[in-house]
Amino acid sequence: MALKQFQAESKRLLELMIHSIYTHREIFLRELISNASDAMDKLYYQMLQDGDTGLSRSDLSVELKVDKENRTLTVSDNGCGMTKEELENNLGVIAKSGSLNFKQENNAKEDIEIIGQFGVGFYSAFMVSECVTVRSRAYGAAEAYEWQSRGVEGYSIEPCEKEGHGTEVVLQLKPNTDEENYDEFLEQYRLRELVKKYSDYIRYPIRMEVERSRLKEGSKDEYETYTEVETLNSMVPLWRKNRREITKEEYNQFYKEKFHDYQDPQRVIHTSTEGAVTYNALLFVPAKAPMDFYTRDYEKGLQLYANGVLIMEKCADLLPDYFSFVRGLVDSQDLSLNISREMLQHDRQLKLIASNLEKRIKSELESMLNNEREEYEKFFRNFGLQLKYGVYMDYGMHRELLQDLLLFYSSSEKKLVTLKEYAGRMKEDQKAIYYACGESIERIEQMPQTELLKDKGLEMLYLTDNVDEFALRVMMNYEGKEFKNISTDDLGLESEEEKENAKKQIEENKDLLAFLRDALDGKVKEVVLSQRLKSHPVCLSTEGGISLEMEKVLNAMPSDEKVKAQRVLEINANHPVFQALTNLYGADQEKLKTYAQLLYAQALLMEGLPVDDPVAFSNQVCDLMVNPEG
Ligand code: ADP
Repeated sequence: MALKQFQAESKRLLELMIHSIYTHREIFLRELISNASDAMDKLYYQMLQDGDTGLSRSDLSVELKVDKENRTLTVSDNGCGMTKEELENNLGVIAKSGSLNFKQENNAKEDIEIIGQFGVGFYSAFMVSECVTVRSRAYGAAEAYEWQSRGVEGYSIEPCEKEGHGTEVVLQLKPNTDEENYDEFLEQYRLRELVKKYSDYIRYPIRMEVERSRLKEGSKDEYETYTEVETLNSMVPLWRKNRREITKEEYNQFYKEKFHDYQDPQRVIHTSTEGAVTYNALLFVPAKAPMDFYTRDYEKGLQLYANGVLIMEKCADLLPDYFSFVRGLVDSQDLSLNISREMLQHDRQLKLIASNLEKRIKSELESMLNNEREEYEKFFRNFGLQLKYGVYMDYGMHRELLQDLLLFYSSSEKKLVTLKEYAGRMKEDQKAIYYACGESIERIEQMPQTELLKDKGLEMLYLTDNVDEFALRVMMNYEGKEFKNISTDDLGLESEEEKENAKKQIEENKDLLAFLRDALDGKVKEVVLSQRLKSHPVCLSTEGGISLEMEKVLNAMPSDEKVKAQRVLEINANHPVFQALTNLYGADQEKLKTYAQLLYAQALLMEGLPVDDPVAFSNQVCDLMVNPEG
């Protein structure tokens, strides 16, 4: 019999399975039953679509069969089955593994992680088997095929005999060793226990022929054995069970298996509603953002069941974009089995469910924020960005809904705070909510513009994510308090007297400022005397709606059109440098030009922006060092 090779990564995974020191070997049964259940779902769904009435749901089941003599355990189903090609593609290759790199040395912990990450399904059979045989016949196909493998050397596929459609997986158990007893998987009680533990909610009966004994007819002490078919699972899906009867472990297990995550969810939301619309929903907030979460590849959506039957794998209409991180399912008896995707989009019931779920998710997050702050911060580190996008999207339509779920770093608290907390601490005469933008907290902390506000004891929000400022601009204000960017907006912190003085100073230095602006040759729109500097000589601000941070963000996006913020160079009139400028204006205008360029370059550097001509800048600084009196 010709052996075919496994694809390299599949081979590696198989090796892991065969030599696994994974303690939860028993999960192989759960995986095989889950595959069987999926195959029956698929078949039933297909038949619904095709209007095929040849089979009813109650005809579908999983069967476990034990052969103690030959030490085999067989899991069979009458689901969709597989064609020859499908056997080849589904069992010879691990499709999902493409992006994962196996480490060369493996240890127990990594094994478990890898096994968990894949939700490896079928291959887990090799944890307990020395040989696995799969006989399958696709629904409607005339011929059946047998796939067989003893492990990494490869697998074979041959035509075979098999009655009816579906799949049977025969496990030839590994020989027992001193440490390991594989015979346990031939014991009725053990199999019953495993089905109860892992597969109780599977919605098809899982049947097993069991041996029982009874008194022989007419006898008082002689027993005889007889066989009987027993259904091992209760078939009540987890989400239809009473919340109080479900353990945390059950929820976690269910989530990991169903949504292919290897970590327990951070949060479980289990609700049922009756009334205008009746449904059960089981929702999960993952403990970590999936790798592709912030990419275009990520698909949001919840599984949708109509009265227990899966009708859609990812129903996007059930989740708003800002809660796209939620995973889970909805089961409603108010939905028709045969509803098409197009009709679903306009379905009134579905809209109602979506709007209920949105409220429910929000209140769950709120309660986490109010009662378990640390947990919430963990959540926010994963998905806060998505909430902030949510505020920004659709022209700020969802700001009301989301604004109290946002967290920003506070300059005075040195931790994440809500807008409500900030507003609650505002001084009586404080008019605005102040914020500063930059690459990192440390960077912002050093910005010259922060000094004045710190001095006045004003709290600032430090914004480090690209979307932050856009979100705040869309919100415009929080409870009537305007947001102000400390680098660009008029902060209105001066007293009347200071304002008067400033006006006078500007008037007096009008010509000097105009000269400096011209010296910068169009790089800045204006040179002004600053009202926001304390100990630093200069800073950059902007005019108009676009700040320097926004310029950076917008220009980083793939677009041909580059935006440019209208730059304004602000000079601190109380800094000794300003005196030097004033002196030079009368004495050496050539040198004053150089100074203007140097100051502008400094302002750029402090903003985290590149200087236009670093070499010229460096030369100018050297000249000054060599020739200070110049
Ligand atoms: P997963 O179930 O996570 O996709 P598996 O390795 O368990 O991964 O199975 C791979 C594929 O093999 C399945 O996606 C399915 O297409 C097919 N398969 C496995 N078991 C069965 C079965 N009992 N009936 C039909 N197809 C099956």
